[in-house]
Amino acid sequence: MEINNPYGTAQICLNGHVIVDTIEEYRYDMKAYCDKCGQPTITSCPDCKSLIRGNEKSNDCGYIIFDEYEKPSFCISCGNPYPWTTRGIAAASELADLVDEFSTEDRELLIKNLADLASETPRTNVAAIQVKKILRNTEPHIRTAFKDTLSSIISEPIIKLIWGS
Ligand SMILES: [Zn+2]
Ligand SMILES: [Zn+2]
Repeated sequence: MEINNPYGTAQICLNGHVIVDTIEEYRYDMKAYCDKCGQPTITSCPDCKSLIRGNEKSNDCGYIIFDEYEKPSFCISCGNPYPWTTRGIAAASELADLVDEFSTEDRELLIKNLADLASETPRTNVAAIQVKKILRNTEPHIRTAFKDTLSSIISEPIIKLIWGS
């Protein structure tokens, strides 16, 4: 029996909008540019050219498992962050620079923690709790702005840990 790759290939824009999670099955939904932000889309890693792992393909029996697709933050072939991960971290650092009410120390700590929030490291929970503490004393609209900026690059459990459910 032949063993097939169970995963399709995803098409994602440089800002991280998932266009198609399985291009093998939805090729007519593919787009050269993102309809949400106008950025070019990619199906492979810009650094090593390996395909972006998409959702699981439906099997031959015809039933499809509708698993929610979560786009990868890092390339599984070369380990580099995808463009949306780099951009998300950069946008959150820029936002941190704009908030006057942070002390210099808090701002530096927040920026230092962003990379750990975007990946799963032994420090991710520590980073989440530090960020939660730093954001606790800021105004609600600032907390929301950070949530909106970071929600596309950090996982659901970490979002809940920082901002509550
Ligand atoms: Zn987009
Ligand atoms: Zn790569």
